[in-house]
Amino acid sequence: DVENTQEEIEELEGLIPGLASHYRLLGKIGEGTFSTVYKAIDLQHERYDNSSWTMIFNADSFDDLSDHHSKPRARRRTKTSAPSRRARVVAIKKIYVTSSPARIANEISILNDLKDSRYIAPLVTAMRKEDQVVVVLPYFPNDDFRQFYLDLPVEDMRWYFASLFSALAYAHSKGVMHRDIKPSNFLYDTKRRHGVLVDFGLAEREGDQEAVKYRSRHSLQMDASTAMRLFRSFDQKGRPGIPRKDTRPGLRANRAGTRGFRAPEVLLKIPQQTVSIDIWSVGVIMLCFLTRRFPFFQSTDDTEALLEIAVLYGRLEMERAAVALGRSFLTNIPTVKDRGIRFESLAKAYNAEGFASLPSDVFDLLRRLLTLDPESRITAEQALEHPFVAQRKV
Ligand code: ADP
Ligand code: MG
Repeated sequence: DVENTQEEIEELEGLIPGLASHYRLLGKIGEGTFSTVYKAIDLQHERYDNSSWTMIFNADSFDDLSDHHSKPRARRRTKTSAPSRRARVVAIKKIYVTSSPARIANEISILNDLKDSRYIAPLVTAMRKEDQVVVVLPYFPNDDFRQFYLDLPVEDMRWYFASLFSALAYAHSKGVMHRDIKPSNFLYDTKRRHGVLVDFGLAEREGDQEAVKYRSRHSLQMDASTAMRLFRSFDQKGRPGIPRKDTRPGLRANRAGTRGFRAPEVLLKIPQQTVSIDIWSVGVIMLCFLTRRFPFFQSTDDTEALLEIAVLYGRLEMERAAVALGRSFLTNIPTVKDRGIRFESLAKAYNAEGFASLPSDVFDLLRRLLTLDPESRITAEQALEHPFVAQRKV
């Protein structure tokens, strides 16, 4: 595996002229759907124009270097150089060549607009050779969500969400929706109680008419598996079964974020999306903490995901919410009762495992985040004022 990584690194260095002379790649730190991310040392000690950057990067950041094969020269320099001339640790994101140039340009342009928040990983630079693009970001030490979500104390949860809402309040104030909020895109450092948002690969400017048009067009495209399930549970007149003569195309919205974190309006294929879709996803993360279950929703497609939400909210509320969005929600699945389940009872597992009981403010915030109607959902700015997170600023 290490050898494979070394080969990949050499291949990447060969692909992008100047990469190897600017950065020493140390190893792979992430492999996602759209990219591979490497950790590297900036050999040129460039100065970055993001003022918050140095504050986040105090000496601790360099501890991580010891477990990589960095050459002694780098280590010595790290220890002896003045703060402004320290070797900088960066994350180099190699975007897969299968991504469209428009999508890559979009990610870079949005990152560039969001450079000034301490809660968003700022763009250092981007390099391109033909269809290969790499994006360079400062490296942010972070803890693995899977390692900490089970035992993070409530007080630390407050800090986690304060950072996340700060990131979103900033992005949303610039009219940018992230569209893929989930634990692996929010790098949280439990010791520093500070997190940064990464991965603007699916981000979009609110009101982007091209994106809305794209979703409208694709919502009319046939998607066999989804269509089948949609028809099985929701026939036009609410009758069970697959109507023989129903030739309506299935509904589909492409590139809609990660399964299980998608807001109801996304699952209902509403072409117009607003920044409030990110807020729903934050609610799902909170649900993971409180129920000690990750991922919380297990669905494999959007119809199933809607049913999972329906089990939580009950049939009546789902029907109301769908109507408000101009859709109809019809189901005869027995696990969907008329009325929903209280979040407090879902969090029983948390209390049962010997944790102090959860404060009521967390449930109040959770309800405001997981509000079915996007227009009534709390905003990131408002959430920062909520008692659960208020006054927790790094
Ligand atoms: P993808 O589109 O492949 O999901 P991401 O931007 O989410 O790409 O990066 C994938 C992973 O790489 C992240 O989940 C994280 O673990 C790691 N990563 C990305 N950026 C950084 C960074 N600036 N500092 C530290 N780790 C990072
Ligand atoms: Mg990601």
